[in-house]
Amino acid sequence: MPVFVRFKCQFCDASPDPATQTSLEGQLRELVFGEYLDAPPGRWLVWHGGGPLGPRRYACAEHRGDLTSYLRGHYGCIGYQVWAMPPYAMTRRSGDTELAIANGGLSPMPKWGYGSRIA
Ligand SMILES: [Zn+2]
Repeated sequence: MPVFVRFKCQFCDASPDPATQTSLEGQLRELVFGEYLDAPPGRWLVWHGGGPLGPRRYACAEHRGDLTSYLRGHYGCIGYQVWAMPPYAMTRRSGDTELAIANGGLSPMPKWGYGSRIA
């Protein structure tokens, strides 16, 4: 059964078009810390914070600038990552990403000894 995740711009009520929705869903399994990712084709911008850099935040094409401005105001002193300038990557996934996820990379709790069966 497909899972539908509803994304919403944090500055307005915009929801992504179907193609951008697919991009955003693909980014749910990213393992990044403190990074902006572009979500085409609707030009959404996603902030993958984490820890002291806060939760993931989403902005529609119209509010990309508001998102970077907001993050730089809130985290500019502690995280150089918020000052990153475009162009932003669309993904940081690699062959190692799935292995890391299987080993608990998306979990707040480490899974030492309960890793994937891939290795
Ligand atoms: Zn918006």
